[in-house]
Amino acid sequence: MKITRNSVETNQGSRESFTGAVYIDAVAIPSGTSRLNASTVHFTPGGRTAWHTHPNGQTIYVIEGIGRAQRRGGPIEVIRPGDRVFFEPGEDHWHGAAANRFVTHLSMVEVDDKGNSASWGAHVTDQEYMAEAAAGEG
Ligand code: MN
Repeated sequence: MKITRNSVETNQGSRESFTGAVYIDAVAIPSGTSRLNASTVHFTPGGRTAWHTHPNGQTIYVIEGIGRAQRRGGPIEVIRPGDRVFFEPGEDHWHGAAANRFVTHLSMVEVDDKGNSASWGAHVTDQEYMAEAAAGEG
């Protein structure tokens, strides 16, 4: 048993992987045979990930605010507190905040044999982000 007190600094999401201001708090870090990597991710309005995939998939669980998520080729989906989304292993996708709202979600992934949790691609352009008026977001 190991207790990590609430003293770990919040990290800012990297410019390579995110658009806008995004803040990340670690919840669980892989250790020994545990592959669980969990974090709370706080997106400011309009903030979002770049396009990416996860080797073993990902579950996100919305804690507060209003967010958006999209898989490659699919519609932009509005996600709200209590909603959870599973992204299949290798499924290209992004997730983030609504244009005018913060969102915080819990992210849960299992790292691969090399400890990788994600493979990152291009940023989600403003055109892609605004491509469809996500209904019921206001
Ligand atoms: Mn993801």
